[in-house]
Amino acid sequence: MAQNDDNLLKKIAGHAKEYGFIFPSSEIYDGLGAAYDYGQNGSELKNNIKEYWWKAMVQMNENIVGIDASIFMHPTTWKASGHVDAFNDPLIDNKDSKKRYRADVLIEDYVAKLEAKINKEVAKGEKRFGDSFDKEQFLATNPNVLRNKTKIDEINNRLGKGLEEGDLGDIKALIEELGIADPVSGSKNWTDVRQFNLMFSTELGSVADGASKIYLRPETAQGIFVNFLNVQKTGRMKIPFGIAQIGKAFRNEIIARQFIFRMREFEQMEMQFFVKPGEEMQWYETWKEKRIAWHKALGLGEVNYRFHDHINLAHYANAAADIQFNFPMGFKELEGIHSRTDFDLKAHEEYSGKKLQFFDPAENKSYVPYVVETSIGLDRMFLAVLSSSYTEETLEDGSERTVMKIPAALAPYKVAILPLLRKDGLPEKAREILSDLQFDFNCQYDEKDAIGKRYRRQDAIGTPYCITVDHQTLEDNTVTIRDRDDLGQIRVRIDELHDQLTKTTSLNNLLRKL
Ligand code: ATP
Repeated sequence: MAQNDDNLLKKIAGHAKEYGFIFPSSEIYDGLGAAYDYGQNGSELKNNIKEYWWKAMVQMNENIVGIDASIFMHPTTWKASGHVDAFNDPLIDNKDSKKRYRADVLIEDYVAKLEAKINKEVAKGEKRFGDSFDKEQFLATNPNVLRNKTKIDEINNRLGKGLEEGDLGDIKALIEELGIADPVSGSKNWTDVRQFNLMFSTELGSVADGASKIYLRPETAQGIFVNFLNVQKTGRMKIPFGIAQIGKAFRNEIIARQFIFRMREFEQMEMQFFVKPGEEMQWYETWKEKRIAWHKALGLGEVNYRFHDHINLAHYANAAADIQFNFPMGFKELEGIHSRTDFDLKAHEEYSGKKLQFFDPAENKSYVPYVVETSIGLDRMFLAVLSSSYTEETLEDGSERTVMKIPAALAPYKVAILPLLRKDGLPEKAREILSDLQFDFNCQYDEKDAIGKRYRRQDAIGTPYCITVDHQTLEDNTVTIRDRDDLGQIRVRIDELHDQLTKTTSLNNLLRKL
């Protein structure tokens, strides 16, 4: 997959719309910025991703349980968590183009350009020196590389310091010193940098009743923290243990583009793992390993993942890393793994006046546990699957096809059942097979158009197998199974279909790899 390929992202969004994966929200009214609806195939794929996550995190770990907390929470929650005071993005406007940007992102994009220069230099070196090229030595000695590396470090340090100390004046000064221009208009006529809170708020109850301001949760994590004691006590959980949750979160993102990568309403799959203070680093490493294994088991390509350590740690964290995925726009954050210390539980203790502690019988004392969290955006995961599955191919006979090579266990439909002709008793036989398989597999039935056209439709939505019922089926109870990826066709007895499909499409196969 080519990096920074806007065109590819557009193609994928177009395909997703044409084939019922994702539609712009309220499209008949021209849509709403950064809100999307999942269509008939999209919801199936999304549900399968959720199931893979839930089973891997909850069902496969005896010390992790799952909850489903409400989106509305007591407003003090967000005071305690720091979101009311500190959940801000630094924004800057260009006075000429009237476009709004995140100041930190403008600077990060500038840094990405310097990184690209380094990569270009390396490519040049590789070309010049061939097999004798020593990349590490080149990176450590080439003057152009070293100059850019120093510059990158200086910029990152200054940006980190500016964000940490809330020195917005210096962030603007940095943008000006680097000569960063509006990427659309080229203008360098910038406003000052301002902080912008990302939480959506609304009123609870009518004004006459004495309405109070509440927020749409910007992360699911706090629903877990406030339920820490409820779950620990009712589930008789012993440290270390985890609480998992899948649910919607809302952020009034300043710039929401790049399709479903950055939305204003999105879904998170989060797990908070409560550990003994002092053991958090070991669990942080364990969860980094477990989460990358979960991703790699899908087979979307190992080269498409990398870890990225945070340079600017959030106010609550003592270590944090992202799992980045190679999206069509390049490597970007897909999941975060954060060591959140005891920040959240302590803050909730302070604001609620309730003790949120664990009595450790081994130590004969109570303490506030430390937390290691894994937090993945479901929609970003969906985009990772969609973008790495999208394939345009020219077949041997010269014809073209667009095929979604979605991992079989996640595919919206596992199998399509297709009578070769709409007569001679073939549809009846096909429906007989369907009525048996549909108990265990999400199946499609399609009898319209020529068989080749029907295969293409299944390719486009990523159905891994097509079963074709023909005249021979009526004689010997066998059918052909066509494989989506290698296009191979084999003849199989109808009574073997169930086992075959279980072997090739079941989620268990993925879970057993973990
Ligand atoms: P970013 O730096 O991209 O804004 P973040 O660091 O603020 O993300 P977290 O607060 O760590 O993100 O949220 C955890 C996960 O939730 C992210 O890794 C991402 O997958 C997902 N996520 C966050 N914001 C959005 C969004 N606006 N749209 C879709 N997914 C999101």
